[in-house]
Amino acid sequence: MLTAFAANALKVAGQSPAQSPAPTIDPLHAWVSGNDPAGLESWVNQRLAEEQADIDKLLAVTGPRTVENTLRPFDDAQNQLALANNNAFLDYSLADAAALRDKGQALTAKISSVATELSLNPKVYAALAAVPLPANDPPTRHYLERTLLEYRLSGVDKDDATRAKIRALNDKITDLGLKFGRNVADGTLKITATKAELDGLPADYIALHKAAADGTYTLTTEQPDVQPVMTFAKSPELRRRMFLAYNGRAYPQNVQVLKDLLTARQDLATILGYAHFADLATADQMIGSAANVQAMLNQVDEASRSAAHTEFAQLLAFAQQREPGLKSISQSDAGYWNEQYRRAKYDFDAQSVRPYFPYDQVRTGILKTAARFFHVEFRQVKDAVVWNPAVDTFDVFDSAEASKGKLLGRIYLDMHPREGKDKWFSSAPVIPGIRGRQLPEGMLICNFSGGNAGDPGLMQYSEVVTFFHEFGHLMHHILGSQGGWSAAGGFNVEGDFIESPSQMLEEMFHDTAILQSFGKQYQTGETIPASLIAKMNAASAYGRGYWLQRQLIFASYSLQVHNTAPATLDFDALAKQDDARFNLFTPVEGDRYYASFTHLVGYTSNYYTYVLDKVIAIDFFAQFDKRNILDGPTAMRYRRAVLEPGASKPAAELVKDFLGRPQNMNAMKSWMNEEFQPPLAAAK
Ligand SMILES: [Zn+2]
Repeated sequence: MLTAFAANALKVAGQSPAQSPAPTIDPLHAWVSGNDPAGLESWVNQRLAEEQADIDKLLAVTGPRTVENTLRPFDDAQNQLALANNNAFLDYSLADAAALRDKGQALTAKISSVATELSLNPKVYAALAAVPLPANDPPTRHYLERTLLEYRLSGVDKDDATRAKIRALNDKITDLGLKFGRNVADGTLKITATKAELDGLPADYIALHKAAADGTYTLTTEQPDVQPVMTFAKSPELRRRMFLAYNGRAYPQNVQVLKDLLTARQDLATILGYAHFADLATADQMIGSAANVQAMLNQVDEASRSAAHTEFAQLLAFAQQREPGLKSISQSDAGYWNEQYRRAKYDFDAQSVRPYFPYDQVRTGILKTAARFFHVEFRQVKDAVVWNPAVDTFDVFDSAEASKGKLLGRIYLDMHPREGKDKWFSSAPVIPGIRGRQLPEGMLICNFSGGNAGDPGLMQYSEVVTFFHEFGHLMHHILGSQGGWSAAGGFNVEGDFIESPSQMLEEMFHDTAILQSFGKQYQTGETIPASLIAKMNAASAYGRGYWLQRQLIFASYSLQVHNTAPATLDFDALAKQDDARFNLFTPVEGDRYYASFTHLVGYTSNYYTYVLDKVIAIDFFAQFDKRNILDGPTAMRYRRAVLEPGASKPAAELVKDFLGRPQNMNAMKSWMNEEFQPPLAAAK
């Protein structure tokens, strides 16, 4: 199983085998060659030199342009850029040493600058435009057409001076985005709590925090500390402090960074002939325009508004029973009252499922579930060279009938918090795939409980779902990156489709058989009771209306800040305006969530992706036979139609190929009003 990777490694390293042994350079994995700033830098520089050589080769062609002599070296150059970027990003996000993270950041900016330069190279554009569109090879045709579109959107047809300006703006945007992210990652805040304020929190949570000499406890804004407080702590004061600390962990330092970032983006849009950045950012997306985004958000608002009001009224009435005189529910109390309401109405306590979901067991269960659903097999690679001993590595093999046993790629799981490590939950490519030459590899960057000796890492159900969601991105990358072009893999599909496959997987985790296959009490081994799952499902179906309304806040905010002249932008006023429109909970005074809203960097104006993709995901899931989700024929049909093509066709076609029509709101409407049967009746 290692040979395919070794063969890749030989390709570049073995240039002069007769000479004295040159230091072995792994051209795909920077961390193998040198886990230090100098090693990373020289590795990245080699990738960039390869990229330049590919472009030189492309430009040196005389005679007629063809796919082989022009698009191929172009894709090779893209491949080198992706390798450089993925590896630099890996160290930026995951390295233990601050110096290596800094180097990763600096190199990410440098690589981005090289990519910008390539995207503004008129000679390369002219060469690509001269390649005849292949009539009988639709994936290649689509790749070429899309590449040309991206070139036009980047401003390649502008004069020299304008292109220089565009380049400078892109560099600035990259720098500011990285800065924003780092401020969030490094902005861990601490709050202190009295013993009494920890009332309601799980015993294992309290046990992990030792009291200081004065009897107080220190909590941080790291994920494993935050969520239990917001869900279980009885003290509204503690919840409020944690909420403000968490959302404020990069405030005020990110306010100016965000302003500068939005200004640079607007300047770029103006040069490229767009009124606002949101128009530019949607021009190559499935949705097509900022106006279409607004229309879609309005539709979802209309579909979810009345459900949200009904749910909120129930929640408020309940809270008022418990606390007579309560006028409203604060945003920082939403998680707590949700939990209380679910316990009372559905007899469901989110803590009661945690003992069934210790981290190691969940990991095994998710791998097994994914293996069945995606028709693959995972084999752990114990001796893989990784960037941190905490990382687990698996090779992915095909188990579909026609191609059983074929090695498809490799995945790395980096799953628990470390100091300096990125604080969020995400999935990222490590290596793009090229059929016959290079197998895709990807990684999960997560911050789940567990990973320390003696801590079983009991997970909340929502964390289990997040794990599967991120795992879905990884599988999209592995299965969708088996084609001939490096830059047309699973992660290269239009950005506003990318969440659909993962959001669909979330729906699978209501299934009793699936949850029972790995939900076992960590001390006794008892299987999670069907009655408990039924209660949990009923409880989780509650609140979908205002969950969507909350998503509309984020989607509107990200659209508006990119659809407004930055000079007139008031972050707080805009947040108030969205709250007034969508938020039934009372905003917390001093909430500066936008200063740590990292989606504004990666998704820019396009947070709507989550809303649109939820609509598609629910529509997708409605096609499955609920009695046999994993082993029925739909799973393979889904893999073939939606995942395997990667970015070899427009996302709208992937949707149509699977559904037989474009997505619509019908499944979403029933999902929102889904009344799970009363718990006991549903229990088997
Ligand atoms: Zn996702």
